[in-house]
Amino acid sequence: MVDKELLYATLKKYFGYDSFREGQEELITNTLQGNDVLGIMPTSGGKSLCYQLPALLLDGMTIVVSPLVSLMKDQVDSLREMGIAAAYLNSTLSREEFLQLMDDMRSGQLKLLYIAPERIDNESFMNALRFVKVPLLVVDEAHCISQWGSDFRPAYQGVARLYDLFDRRPMVAAFTATATEPVQDDILVQLRLQNPFRLVTGFDRSNLAFSVEKPADKFKFLVKDLNPKEASIIYCSTRKNVESVQKKLEQKGFAVTLYHAGLPEHERQRNQDDFLFDRKPIMVATNAFGMGIDKSNVRTVYHYNMPKNIESYYQEAGRAGRDGEEARVILLFSTQDIIINQLLNSKTNDSEATNKLNKMINYCYTNQCLRRYILEYFGETTAELNCQHCSNCLRRTEQIDITEEAQKILSCVVRVRGRYGVQKIIGILTGSKQKGITDFGLDKLKTYGLMSAYNDGEIREMIGVLIADEYLQVTGDQYPLIQVTPKALEILKEGKKVGMSYAVETGKGTAKQSGGGLYDTELFDRLRSVRTEMANEHGIPSYIVFSDSTLHEMA
Ligand code: ADP
Ligand code: MG
Ligand code: ZN
Repeated sequence: MVDKELLYATLKKYFGYDSFREGQEELITNTLQGNDVLGIMPTSGGKSLCYQLPALLLDGMTIVVSPLVSLMKDQVDSLREMGIAAAYLNSTLSREEFLQLMDDMRSGQLKLLYIAPERIDNESFMNALRFVKVPLLVVDEAHCISQWGSDFRPAYQGVARLYDLFDRRPMVAAFTATATEPVQDDILVQLRLQNPFRLVTGFDRSNLAFSVEKPADKFKFLVKDLNPKEASIIYCSTRKNVESVQKKLEQKGFAVTLYHAGLPEHERQRNQDDFLFDRKPIMVATNAFGMGIDKSNVRTVYHYNMPKNIESYYQEAGRAGRDGEEARVILLFSTQDIIINQLLNSKTNDSEATNKLNKMINYCYTNQCLRRYILEYFGETTAELNCQHCSNCLRRTEQIDITEEAQKILSCVVRVRGRYGVQKIIGILTGSKQKGITDFGLDKLKTYGLMSAYNDGEIREMIGVLIADEYLQVTGDQYPLIQVTPKALEILKEGKKVGMSYAVETGKGTAKQSGGGLYDTELFDRLRSVRTEMANEHGIPSYIVFSDSTLHEMA
């Protein structure tokens, strides 16, 4: 039996807390009873405590495998401040430090050792371990072991090799914030967990206000929306984007720093500290930044580009509001984000990745509660949740029928037989006089100028809807090409309707303003009037002129 009094006394004495958070006590109790455990808790749910506390009560040295080299020092420092004998082993140690560590290990002084997975294979380390009693082996950020997860680290697969070093296999405790069922199962298999106690606490982070924004100009949106004094993280998909967004914000007078894997170690460390200590409250970063970062007062997480799946998105978004106070997570979306991501997937031909990407794209287009969408993705049953907090719950939306526009766009793509990208398609439809159109004779096509009443951005948005609904797809090796899918026949032949939703009112609590694009009432009104005008002028649409065989051949 686990002594409950001792548990709470230790919690108070070392960590200063009076109570456990959801799931902590069960996970800790099970560990102390000698069970393997798998804890799935949201970011900032308090996973560290679930292994630090048992480590204190168990006899011997607990090993914590963690991918977060840049944070090990901080973690170990704060444990030492609490009076806990802790150390870390990673590539940053000097020869002397390493040898000292091996001595400390052998003499049985350490309670906790953090180790980077890449160091497990180190021979001196393995030898030293033979003299050490290891009651518990912790695998933090355990999703890194799975190739199906979003942060696969090959070295993690070496963790299970450690078991063989000991006469008695240690208990194993694995933790992660982000694991879909298949990833959870994969963790169990790869780590060979034995009858593990498995606990999933709610994924729900009720203090987060989710919103998807489709601004005509993302940067302008940011400048307006950012609060220069509040901690914010802006995630971009590429290092190049990170650098340019950071620079432009700096020019606008924001105290802003940056982080990506291409920066030298000392710069990364310095920038991270600038952010952590609020010297520069705004951080522009790639997804290399943030795993394990314990900064509690981040008020807004922006995504300047759409991430490649919901797992990554939720993990990054989860870095907002770790203190439990209200926080916003805002995804700035553009059709270009879909195109780039689909192109990447079409190169690797990874159907799993494509499925995940499609779920992410649908998140950007769905009308349902965004929080519910995410929870359902992770398999949480949420019968009636409408959070009244996300942009979809707060906006009054209207559906507008864009079937005619869709027919024109799809016809144009069929006509050029999928040989062109979005920009050319738009050029043809708007009747562009640019050389890229006229030189190729594209101005002779029947679909040329068919949508001259619309501007590029408007047509781009509609193409986005058609991609999201899987009437169009992106392919190509080097350049993204747009092609129709077999499903397009439903629109071209069977007269299936296509709708696009517009927010006509933005409630409070979401992004401060809407920067245009899809959620712009102006465009909404324009669509309506343009359509009426065209109907008056041209009567019945005359652009669907395909025989069955052409359609068949194309789709
Ligand atoms: P994660 O699950 O993301 O690893 P952490 O272990 O870093 O989360 O914990 C997040 C924050 O919650 C930390 O600041 C930690 O001190 C705090 N915390 C953890 N457990 C408790 C508790 N029982 N009571 C109050 N605060 C806690
Ligand atoms: Mg953690
Ligand atoms: Zn909602």
